[in-house]
Amino acid sequence: MSNNKNTKTAPEAGPTPSNFIRQIIEADLAAGKHAGVTWGGQPGPAAAHAGAPPDPAKIRTRFPPEPNGYLHIGHAKSICLNFGLAQDYGGACHLRFDDTNPEKEEQEYVDAIIDAVHWLGFDWGSHAYFASDYFDFMYAAAQHLIEHGHAYVDSQSADEMRASRGTLTEAGKGSPHRGRSAEENLDLFRRMEAGEFTDGAHVLRAKIDMASPNINLRDPVLYRIRHATHHRAGDKWNVYPLYTYAHPIEDALERITHSLCTLEFEDQRPFYDWLLERLTETTTLPDGTVAGGLLAQPLPRQIEFARLNLSYVVLSKRKLIQLVQEKHVEGWDDPRLPTLAGARRRGYTPEGFRAFAERIGVAKADSWIDYGVLEDCMRDDLNEKALRRIAVLDPLRLVIDNYPEGEEEDCFAPNHPQQPDLGKRAVPFSRELWIEREDFMEAPAKGYFRLFPGNSVRLRYGFVVKCTACDKDAAGNVTAVHCEYSPDSKSGTPGADTYKVKGNIHWLSAKHACAAEVRLFDRLFREPNPGAGDRDYLDDLNADSKRVITARLEPALKDAQPEDRYQFERHGYFVADRVDSKPGAPVFNRAVTLKDSWGKGG
Ligand code: ATP
Ligand code: MG
Repeated sequence: MSNNKNTKTAPEAGPTPSNFIRQIIEADLAAGKHAGVTWGGQPGPAAAHAGAPPDPAKIRTRFPPEPNGYLHIGHAKSICLNFGLAQDYGGACHLRFDDTNPEKEEQEYVDAIIDAVHWLGFDWGSHAYFASDYFDFMYAAAQHLIEHGHAYVDSQSADEMRASRGTLTEAGKGSPHRGRSAEENLDLFRRMEAGEFTDGAHVLRAKIDMASPNINLRDPVLYRIRHATHHRAGDKWNVYPLYTYAHPIEDALERITHSLCTLEFEDQRPFYDWLLERLTETTTLPDGTVAGGLLAQPLPRQIEFARLNLSYVVLSKRKLIQLVQEKHVEGWDDPRLPTLAGARRRGYTPEGFRAFAERIGVAKADSWIDYGVLEDCMRDDLNEKALRRIAVLDPLRLVIDNYPEGEEEDCFAPNHPQQPDLGKRAVPFSRELWIEREDFMEAPAKGYFRLFPGNSVRLRYGFVVKCTACDKDAAGNVTAVHCEYSPDSKSGTPGADTYKVKGNIHWLSAKHACAAEVRLFDRLFREPNPGAGDRDYLDDLNADSKRVITARLEPALKDAQPEDRYQFERHGYFVADRVDSKPGAPVFNRAVTLKDSWGKGG
């Protein structure tokens, strides 16, 4: 019985619903906050931008991944948001690699990130940047802060610093080195950079307020010593900026207007603003001249939104790295992983992700999205695009005893029932067919309308057949089903619809079908929130998340190109694997079933 529900209409295209970020942007645009800012970079030693063409974009957003892992579905939300806003408001979105940490970053990840953002359908034009390109500016800015009494070198150990930081209810204590003179601080900081000290001997800290109720303002660390080789800067630096220091500067140098980040950075916003304001300050020198700040107004504004939490997956790079390195999956593009590389291989579509981002929206409060919502978005998109084909996943032989041996003929199946202009294709029919094992029951259950001795069904796009008997092996397993067909019942011929049957099953001509590897996936985790409570999230892995079968495919599928997507009737949407499938030797992955069958063993 077909469960191929093709009645669902595509989601209506319409204006993007507003949200709090759009409201802020529209108010800023109305107030002319960023009018007249041309993108030539910031004044001062922002040499990284010299030579870039002026570009009077209205708003400027950025997607700032750290190249220490592959992008995942949570990043897709951020990418769609940042690039989508820039598109909608006639602005630009930068792709910025936040490569301030020398130890974890690799070119492989940079390349994978570029691939994934392009695949999602977004383009940054000439605006691809690396945070490490601003290291010179950041180093100069740190000296500027020291000179103006806003930063000092602390020589306490990490433990001492932690102990003197205070708690949520108790103020912190100032470091014994907090009173160092600007000269002494400058000298120490330059020697840190010159490589005179070992890792951890000193750090540079902002001088803000050890009693602040916001712990992030209790003299946060700006720079630490790291004798490490950076993937782009090589061995040039012996000090590296912390993310919280680097990120606001990156935004300001690129003249980002709206810096969108996830909620966990909300408590960092006061520091973000503090830092940028210190770097825009001007000073009047004793001789009366005014020394300019390093950065110009208007400054970027940080706005936080809720990160995507998706059930049945983990969206943390640390966990994804562990799953890959410990070989719980078969690499970063394993179709079961929630990486974008995995989703692509699985057969998910960029349009499906963009529709998902629209559907979930952006909010200011954390929430969980059911994985089924993402699947629905993929189904809606694939339903539109995917041509229909026939595959038998669990083949059982059906012999039509009254069909002449050696004879064959064509039946015709529509390529897309909702798009008749896509035409029909010939599907060969002959005496011996493959049907699904589950479409036959020797002793039918109540309400079973498919094949059983004495019952008639329609072979979809073909003939009506009546089941007569079955063959069994010594163990009692059914090895073949026998039936007789009605020669005047062929679909599409006059009088064919006078045959009234309740069952309608799909089939393939055994001698024409091609055998192929097909991979069926289930969720990677058994629990909606892997690792919730005290469990180790690895204990929640689903041991049966991948099943490899040898299916039979209709001849038209034999020469599928990698990444061709189809609906296999009654079975869901499938993609020819982009790595393993070759024309002539197809390998298919199931992207998603036809309807939500999770929890029903589907
Ligand atoms: P992780 O916490 O797994 O290490 P991350 O947030 O540190 O991930 P980044 O490379 O820094 O990873 O992320 C780049 C951008 O993607 C950031 O702006 C971040 O806010 C955003 N992002 C990351 N995860 C999510 C998520 N689950 N939902 C929405 N945005 C996200
Ligand atoms: Mg991060």
